[in-house]
Amino acid sequence: MYIDTHCHLNFPQFDADRAMVIGNAKKAGVKKFINPGVDLFSSRQAIELAQKHPKTIFAGVGFHPYEAQQLPNVNELYNLYKNYNRYIVAVGECGLDYHQYKGEEAAGKKTNQQRLFEEQLRLALKHNLPVIMHCRDAYEDFFDVLDSLPQIPKGVIHCFSGGRQDLRMAQARNFFVGIDGNVTYSKHLAMIIPHIPLSMLLLETDAPFLTPAPHRGQRNEPKYIPTIAKMIAELQGVPSAEVEHQTTTHALSLFGMV
Ligand SMILES: [Zn+2]
Ligand SMILES: [Zn+2]
Repeated sequence: MYIDTHCHLNFPQFDADRAMVIGNAKKAGVKKFINPGVDLFSSRQAIELAQKHPKTIFAGVGFHPYEAQQLPNVNELYNLYKNYNRYIVAVGECGLDYHQYKGEEAAGKKTNQQRLFEEQLRLALKHNLPVIMHCRDAYEDFFDVLDSLPQIPKGVIHCFSGGRQDLRMAQARNFFVGIDGNVTYSKHLAMIIPHIPLSMLLLETDAPFLTPAPHRGQRNEPKYIPTIAKMIAELQGVPSAEVEHQTTTHALSLFGMV
């Protein structure tokens, strides 16, 4: 059994055939799904999906760093958690994404992202929830925000794109790293995967985005999780079944899914 630890099944790309997408994933051996939120609306949708598919879909509630300029209120996430905690397994996705920010004028925007990230980390710590973290072109500040906290929460750096040094930093903080379909074509990931201990790995699709080869150009779906596992197994020189077993065990324990 596989788990897709990060997919956006609530997104409109799945409105026409969501039940079939879930059914096809199950046929491929993908039995559980975590649907993180990116804002209040999608966090609510994630909870609704979890209510409709008990023990199968689990929700994350969070504000993506792209939301930071609207100065969202993290208390709203707490209100969701208060009322729907049995469907919620994580805070996220949250983090830092500087990909579109260049130059001096970006400084204020970066500060807003850092503040929003920190508030969500504190929420996770307070309620002993794992965090689903997003980090793009921002690893230095990312670890600075984490290290400024009284305690490091448990969690995963989803869609890991960092280098060897970032991997060591993640390892020192007991984080997991999520690997996606871009492992089938990214030269960078092919180089970094052999250095990631299997004990740190989680599988995710980030569907509808990041479709693996040879399906690039089409919508991504959780049914491609075994393709990602196979590629990791090849790069690490271990059996695919070992990747399946370890990543599923880690996902179940990190997110406490029952
Ligand atoms: Zn993300
Ligand atoms: Zn995502």
